[in-house]
Amino acid sequence: MLDTFAGNKEIKETIEACVSSGRFPHAFIIEGEKGSGRHTLARIITAAALCEDEKAPCGRCRICDLVMRDGHSDVLTYRPDGATFKIDSVREIRDNAFVMPIEAKRKVNILIDCDKMNEPAQNAFLKVLEEPPEFMVFILICQNAQGLLTTVRSRCVTLSVKNPDRTEAADYIALKTGRNEADINEALENSHGNIGKAMDILSGEAAEAVLAAAEFLRALKKRDRFEALKCMYRFEKDRLGFTAFLTELRLLAQREAQKCATKKGSVSPSTVAKLLELIERTELEYRRHIGQPLSVPLTAAAICAELFS
Ligand SMILES: [Zn+2]
Repeated sequence: MLDTFAGNKEIKETIEACVSSGRFPHAFIIEGEKGSGRHTLARIITAAALCEDEKAPCGRCRICDLVMRDGHSDVLTYRPDGATFKIDSVREIRDNAFVMPIEAKRKVNILIDCDKMNEPAQNAFLKVLEEPPEFMVFILICQNAQGLLTTVRSRCVTLSVKNPDRTEAADYIALKTGRNEADINEALENSHGNIGKAMDILSGEAAEAVLAAAEFLRALKKRDRFEALKCMYRFEKDRLGFTAFLTELRLLAQREAQKCATKKGSVSPSTVAKLLELIERTELEYRRHIGQPLSVPLTAAAICAELFS
């Protein structure tokens, strides 16, 4: 079952070692960008923790099947209540952790966006991490583990999910979607190699920000200032959407910067560097002025003026 996860050889070896040693860790952190497969990996680790087969996770038994369909009674998933994980929810998680599993040998709690736990909440969580019940496994999913306290991190096995190489990503998507090679390669190009986002693009469910960022980069390659402006004007009245667009654009630009380094880039290195600098400056400005009326069209015009001068 581990081999169904694309790329990330080291992570798969770590999980194999956890199973074969018989000493399964009480807590994992899975960090990585959205669409990189963090949730799929969390299910695979859960199956590894619960499956009774000697080659766990076998992927064939009833336990593995229930886990992969999110239907196992000993697996609980928690999400932040709005923008943060409230301390009351963390206390509830802590108290529930001491209740015995219903049918499996272990119990798994998956905490989504756990970097949205503030410091008091993390300290409350730390209490159960310090002395977890024997049967308990926590899987903390986040974008960046640096958002967690060192004391929390030191008690977890951290797994950093990376986008696999292009061929492996393309093979995986072809297997899952049956789409043709050209479509898959284009989607991967527009998602900077991120499998989840590429599959959203192919199914027509991609977020506006992902599509607009890919279009913006294409406009920049063609030196088409009008098209570039149009991409950003899509977020004229949507500041949150615009910041999501900037995040996606930064990921694409970073990928482009890597290509520049290997001389395969289609945008000049100085333009890519300028773009990254502008994104950083704008993100900083938007963070500094949270809640204040900043005009997206004005920002867009300023960015294009510098990029296309
Ligand atoms: Zn199994």
